[in-house]
Amino acid sequence: MRRRDFLNTLVGSFAALNVLFSLDKPRIFPNSSKKEPSETDILVKVLGTAQDGGLPHFGCYCKNCLRARENPRFARLISSLAILELEERKFWLLDATPDIRAQWDIVHHRLAQEKSGSQNSPYAILLTHAHIGHYTGLMFFGYEAMNARQVPVYCSARMGGFLANNGPWSQLVNLENIAPRILSPDKELSLSPRLSITPLPVPHRDEYSDTLGFVISGRKKKLLYIPDIQNWEAWSRSIVREVEKVNIALLDGTFFSPEELPGRDLSQIGHPFIQSSLKTLSEVASKGKSEIYFTHLNHTNLALDPQGAARKKIEERGFRLAEEGMEFSL
Ligand SMILES: [Zn+2]
Ligand SMILES: [Zn+2]
Ligand SMILES: [Zn+2]
Repeated sequence: MRRRDFLNTLVGSFAALNVLFSLDKPRIFPNSSKKEPSETDILVKVLGTAQDGGLPHFGCYCKNCLRARENPRFARLISSLAILELEERKFWLLDATPDIRAQWDIVHHRLAQEKSGSQNSPYAILLTHAHIGHYTGLMFFGYEAMNARQVPVYCSARMGGFLANNGPWSQLVNLENIAPRILSPDKELSLSPRLSITPLPVPHRDEYSDTLGFVISGRKKKLLYIPDIQNWEAWSRSIVREVEKVNIALLDGTFFSPEELPGRDLSQIGHPFIQSSLKTLSEVASKGKSEIYFTHLNHTNLALDPQGAARKKIEERGFRLAEEGMEFSL
């Protein structure tokens, strides 16, 4: 019933989508080999892995940013996932980043829907929180851009209130470009017969909204996504147990270690260091049952150097960095 409503709501919403934005640099689609969709074909595709400011970072000429400017292979879009239902050609975006135009194209490329005149698929947006890298892409659904109709935006009650009561987001709500739908914390919500999500409230800098992580459940596998959290100790749940419950975890890897930002009190910025996460999660990683990836990487992150000691340490201990284009079949 939910799915039918969803389809009905969205019919006619996509007229503006025939304009496709060209990518200004080559993008790699490492796992995008075409395969026959099967009944359980839910894919989670990584659309971005950088912290809110992206890589290269605005106005920054640090080593990582210079490397990313010199060679676009090292650039990273802002953290986001797409959940694709291949057979139905449907997709959901987890967070609407300022890079949404390029990320939208990655999804359409994967669904082979970029041809002129092709019908675009129904979709919805799921939001983690109100920091700039996670929701400001919503602006492209508005009057000055796509002028979409009633795109469902699933978010927390506080996030929904923030969107409804503050311009320019309130204009999207008033003109019905987007339709906020409030999620109940910790309550599983079915998005389709094969796919459900569970929003998990997590502690984070909550100036405008509270913050959610998500468990995405397909028929065979589960994926945990927490791009922003104050630290694992501050959470009411045990990160070890939560990772044990899933097959794949994409976790906040904003900073590798405190050495990255000399002169700044990182405890005030509020993210776990990869260095500590490697310790906290070492046992669960060594069991090899759950794959653990770090995402939401700050431009200063020592692990961004592909030849560096930090990257080596992560990989030697059985963890990985998330990369744009990675796909996980659920
Ligand atoms: Zn963020
Ligand atoms: Zn930089
Ligand atoms: Zn944040």
